[in-house]
Amino acid sequence: MPRYPVTFAMTVDDVGFGDEPDAFVDLDKFFGGLDLPVTYFVTPRWGDVPIYEKPAWLAALRHSAMQPRRAFALHGLRHDTPFEFGWTHPYMGRADHDREWATRRDEVRAGLRRQALQEKLAEGQRIFEHVFGAPAKVFRSPYAAVCEDLWAALLWAGIAADSSKVINWDLWRYWRQEVFPPVDWDPDLPPHLRQADGLWHAPIMAEYSWMLTDNAQVERCFGRALDDFHRVREREDGLFVMVCHVEQTSREFVKGREVIRRLVEVMKQDKNVRFVTLPGLIAEVAR
Ligand SMILES: [Zn+2]
Repeated sequence: MPRYPVTFAMTVDDVGFGDEPDAFVDLDKFFGGLDLPVTYFVTPRWGDVPIYEKPAWLAALRHSAMQPRRAFALHGLRHDTPFEFGWTHPYMGRADHDREWATRRDEVRAGLRRQALQEKLAEGQRIFEHVFGAPAKVFRSPYAAVCEDLWAALLWAGIAADSSKVINWDLWRYWRQEVFPPVDWDPDLPPHLRQADGLWHAPIMAEYSWMLTDNAQVERCFGRALDDFHRVREREDGLFVMVCHVEQTSREFVKGREVIRRLVEVMKQDKNVRFVTLPGLIAEVAR
């Protein structure tokens, strides 16, 4: 038997991408079938159109919000640049980031000033509230990009918790087909919920289900997820925040859901794991 309980939060990014929500609706059914609390990170203005002006999306989100164990959080505003809310981590960096940085340096810097961040968050919160009836309490930055002024801007916007930082970057390097040796967990980010800069921080453990198409990938990624879970379980009050993306676990990539299903199965058999949504967890600790 494990010594200490683990808190597990499943999270899904890029909800709101595209004009049609079919992949999201299908994924939401998958989580409903697993009976798993899930937090959806919604991008409120993808394609520069407020999501409430897309009737199919509005209906899908409101339907999901009526189901048990669903929660919603804010995932940027437009998600149209890696630099919308900060600087990307080198492991997240890609050629398009480098190009953008090379050509739009001044614009990027201007967009990351406190006032500019606040304006983007205010617009995001306005749209979010229009859809869900209340502003978001939890935020995750697109591309996991953060900057120094972000924390104060989030507080200003009524956000209580951030989930942008990443503990285990190793698989992101794998997705980019980089050569190993592997990197270990970020030593500055223990897998716990903790307070800093006036906010709660719930760091992401890793992504294990990015565009998987064959069984060998599933085995490999499930193995990684299991290793991380066993390490978290060795700690007191460990927090395991898992992330997947809507499109990258749908259609031709639906195999990635096997990793999620199998990990949740293991965790459910382990009686010391509790399952939460991130807004639910924050409401609990903020009481
Ligand atoms: Zn995203």
